[in-house]
Amino acid sequence: MKTVRFKIDGREIEAQEGISVLAAARSNGIRIPTLCYHSALKPIGACKLCGIEVKGRAGKWRILLSCILRVREGLEVRTQSKSVIKARTTAFRNLLSMAPQSKFIRNLAEEYNIDLGPTPDGCIRCRLCIRVCKEIVGAGALKMEKRNGISYVTPEEGLCIGCGTCVNLCPTDAIQMTDREGNRIISIRDETIGVHALERCEACGSYFASRKFIKHVSELTSTHTDLKEHHLFCPTCAKLFSNRVKSFSRIRRGE
Ligand code: SF4
Repeated sequence: MKTVRFKIDGREIEAQEGISVLAAARSNGIRIPTLCYHSALKPIGACKLCGIEVKGRAGKWRILLSCILRVREGLEVRTQSKSVIKARTTAFRNLLSMAPQSKFIRNLAEEYNIDLGPTPDGCIRCRLCIRVCKEIVGAGALKMEKRNGISYVTPEEGLCIGCGTCVNLCPTDAIQMTDREGNRIISIRDETIGVHALERCEACGSYFASRKFIKHVSELTSTHTDLKEHHLFCPTCAKLFSNRVKSFSRIRRGE
């Protein structure tokens, strides 16, 4: 097969005519990132990571995909220019918008010195969790905190009461709550907001609320004038009993 001579980043390269610029670059130790490329499959240029700058006939440079572009005599390409880095950054950002959880893509971008900004943590900074915890629950267990110039939702140490209101209100599931073997863990990213012992329902026996939350509610309601006999019922049993009480009242009234 015919050999052609061309230039990558000003370096003279020899390669078999017809092979891709990507293959020629890689066999000469020049790195170009790819995700959709596989040597056993026809290239389709889906990930767009392998964009390079190619000198046109009129001397104008433009971005083309190196997995698809074939080498030819006199071709000149650049793999590290400003325009290439810009196109590569756009491609990485686009891929991460579809797979934000992918550590593989972020690590690959890092290898190529692409700045993708902070790792998305699933939080849209709506502050619903912080506001409800402070304004309604009254615990104030969450706050905004700047770390390396970026604002994050973080715990106020020791203030979480394990009610789970923030978890229920968060529109993106950025806060997690796990109930296991009588304990509740609330966390955001890999940070623990609170670990809590759970209480069982007096009626059905299932774990239903944290001890701290029950204490918090008891303290808040202790002075209430309509306070009735105190029971530890889960929401389901509480509803069941309140329905029964209503039915008995109706029977008594002869309704
Ligand atoms: S953790 Fe959820 S509720 Fe709190 S600010 Fe982020 S997205 Fe909003």
